[in-house]
Amino acid sequence: MAKAGSKTKTQSPKNISWNLGLLFDSDTSPLIAENRGKVKAAAAAFVSKWRHRRDYLQDPLILRKALDDFEQWSRNFGYDGDEGYYFWLRTSQDQNSSELKAAFNKVEEFGRKIEDETRFFYMRICKIPVRRQKEFLEHPRLAEYRHFLERAFAEARYLMSEAEEKIISAKASTSHSNWVRMTSGFLVREERDVVLEDGSTGARNFSEILNLMNSANRRVRDSAAKAFNAILAKHALVAEAEINSILANKKSDDEFRKIPRPDLSRHISDDMESEVVDTLIGTVAGRFDIPAEFYRLKAGLLKVRKLKYHERNVEYGIDGGSFPYDKSATLVRKVFSRLDPEFVDIFDGFMNNGQIDVYPQKGKTSGAFCAHNLISQPTYILLNHTDSLNDVLTLAHELGHGINNELMKKSQHALHFGAPLSTAEVASTFMEDFVLQEILREADEEQRLALMVKKLNDDVSTIFRQVACYRFEQELHFEFRKKGYLSVEEIGAIFSRHMAAYMGDAVEQSGGAENWWIYWGHIRTFFYVYSYASGLLISKAMQRYVKEDPRFIGNVKTFLSAGLSDSPRNIFRSLGIDIAGAQFWKSGLDEVEALLNETIALAKKLKKIK
Ligand SMILES: [Zn+2]
Repeated sequence: MAKAGSKTKTQSPKNISWNLGLLFDSDTSPLIAENRGKVKAAAAAFVSKWRHRRDYLQDPLILRKALDDFEQWSRNFGYDGDEGYYFWLRTSQDQNSSELKAAFNKVEEFGRKIEDETRFFYMRICKIPVRRQKEFLEHPRLAEYRHFLERAFAEARYLMSEAEEKIISAKASTSHSNWVRMTSGFLVREERDVVLEDGSTGARNFSEILNLMNSANRRVRDSAAKAFNAILAKHALVAEAEINSILANKKSDDEFRKIPRPDLSRHISDDMESEVVDTLIGTVAGRFDIPAEFYRLKAGLLKVRKLKYHERNVEYGIDGGSFPYDKSATLVRKVFSRLDPEFVDIFDGFMNNGQIDVYPQKGKTSGAFCAHNLISQPTYILLNHTDSLNDVLTLAHELGHGINNELMKKSQHALHFGAPLSTAEVASTFMEDFVLQEILREADEEQRLALMVKKLNDDVSTIFRQVACYRFEQELHFEFRKKGYLSVEEIGAIFSRHMAAYMGDAVEQSGGAENWWIYWGHIRTFFYVYSYASGLLISKAMQRYVKEDPRFIGNVKTFLSAGLSDSPRNIFRSLGIDIAGAQFWKSGLDEVEALLNETIALAKKLKKIK
């Protein structure tokens, strides 16, 4: 692998490693400095043209010209151009190189300056007076930018003056993130002696202990859970102080901004109407019988009367087999070709252009991602393929993101390129589920049962557990605002009630489990968790429609092409679907229930349960 500062190109075989030559030939290419010069010049030209004018805030025709300029600039340059994207990708290939880190930090700093210089443009559009907004939104010459403007105006509704916003953002670290970092910092520094797989005892750190709780070996997982609960108990009072502080900060911010409900700012930034989220949460909570039934099945398969709280994710059955990359790619291509030929073309394009980096390497980022930046730049997918079942599903997942990107690029301009958080995981889980179904078709019955249990386990965690957590958060903010302070016991009682609600009677609320909110990072990114459920359920509903009528894939592509051109609700409305109604979310839940019933029937047939 090429090191920063060297002139050699990456010499790995084609198709399985990134060809960053689509951006720059090497870390020392003279084109890098040239690109930076262009980015700087483009920003300067934009700023000098619009900074001292106000006419674009009054005349729709001039605003159209300004937005066209802004779009072109966002398309080709952005804050840090090709250089920023290139070095970001390079650092994920080699995290240990301090030269790459330095190069990336420098271009980031450069980008922040451009960001500061150009921020005025969007801020001023946000501040177009409410009485004039309608005229701008309805103007035919601004139709192409209508939703961009709608989002800006929606965001602006709760913005305060520039000076006040400065204060709010300056206190964010001392009133929120430092507290959060303190708690998680204390937890990750912990170490405990636990029972290991070979029966011996040894010291393990916090994240290792988390993993050991899923061990198929009961002594190992019980010992890990005991250590885990002891760590949480040790820091419970710290977490109590922390959570009360960040709840108080959130409360005062909402009051300053006159935001009527604590989850509204999340909905606005995700482009979701509160009505839609409320329907989603209510509909899922109305079907907590599904996870309860799943855990009864799982307890039966593991031959226990009740699962302990930490045993929910213990794996059942044999592993899924071996999936070398070639076999994985062939399998995924086969599934894509049945869905839509364009999906195959996009996949082949990624492969042939060197946009997928397949294998683990020393220094390479762990896990997987699909990266995009400016609309004019190529998509890059990073994998760490080690031939497991999870790896083939990850390939399908990241390709789903990649297909989503390419479809948006074809249909949208730069200001509508991207996906809101609420639907960002639709394409990825859609592809992942179809690939899993193909694997199921080829598996024998014992393997099928294990795979279906694994799938249900993931679906339950992504949909029902996150919705239960969202309801916990709602009550947490509500109770805090009512009482002014919540003790660790009070928080634990609220938490346990919401967890018990979706887990049902086959999972014990074991002693210590009332503290598990302490390490649940996402509750500190307030109301983030619903987006897991919304993404997967939209994906499930669309899977169901495609299975009923394969031609529905045309609608799926319309949805995936739409990007930020309208809210998810309106995009679906144009396809004749109302996502503010319960029926849509029920179709997604039906898909999960069907898999559950099939799994129970198979478990009975194989005499694994009575
Ligand atoms: Zn994803």
